[in-house]
Amino acid sequence: MRIANLAGRLALLTADGAVDVAAGGFDTDPAALFAQWDGLLRWSAAVDPATAVPYRESDLLAPVPEPRQIFAVALNYRPHTAEAGYEEPAEPLVFTKFPSCLTGPYATVDLPEGHVDWELEMVAVIGRDAYRVPEENGWDPVAALTVGQDLSERIVQLTGRPAQFSLGKSFPGFGPVGPALVSVDEPADRDDLELTCELNGKVVQHDRTSNMIFPVPRLVAHLSAICPLRPGDLIFTGTPAGVGNRRTPQRFIGPRDTLISRIEGLGEMRHTFRSAP
Ligand code: ZN
Repeated sequence: MRIANLAGRLALLTADGAVDVAAGGFDTDPAALFAQWDGLLRWSAAVDPATAVPYRESDLLAPVPEPRQIFAVALNYRPHTAEAGYEEPAEPLVFTKFPSCLTGPYATVDLPEGHVDWELEMVAVIGRDAYRVPEENGWDPVAALTVGQDLSERIVQLTGRPAQFSLGKSFPGFGPVGPALVSVDEPADRDDLELTCELNGKVVQHDRTSNMIFPVPRLVAHLSAICPLRPGDLIFTGTPAGVGNRRTPQRFIGPRDTLISRIEGLGEMRHTFRSAP
């Protein structure tokens, strides 16, 4: 199932277009998504594709607009850990992106002053309450996967000793997610998906999620050992190598750039940028 937030209403995405969930008798409020998740899964399997209608990509919004918690993981791919100049972590390194940073998959993002950088990441979406989940059951509370960008302003992110990452990664628009929530049964192998990030048509990041140091079940176990997880919570699972601030010369996002974020089986986001007013 691919379910999206289309102009504020829940809609099933098919190869041909979108089907409003009201057609199946469901509540169209994105906040009601996880309370009706199992019913939507059953309905989606039987929907007549001929009932889908075309839609505008620009009407797609963040599929979970108001999660209660957003977790993000630093240094979860070895080549990125090496390029950033750190040793491989023994335990997941966790920060947050505050929910006010979320935006849609085809938004134009305002650039604050500073060094704005890209970080393509797979995002795991929690579908039910979960607390103290053992690693072997770590996929159980994950309802869906989606594409995310952990946009980061590097000056704010790296200021201070120790640096506090969360604010520099939480400017408005710094948390694009989408284009849809893809139920975990849909990808061919949920543990091994190709990630590709392109800046102005040139590949800048390319890896596979199977190369994570701490895979999704380990992250769910680690986070839920401390924080009860709630439906709609997001886990940004870390970025591969190829970010702009570790390049020579450094490269940061400017107002004329176009950023494509693609994950095999999950879809593609496209973002443009402008200087913040
Ligand atoms: Zn990140």
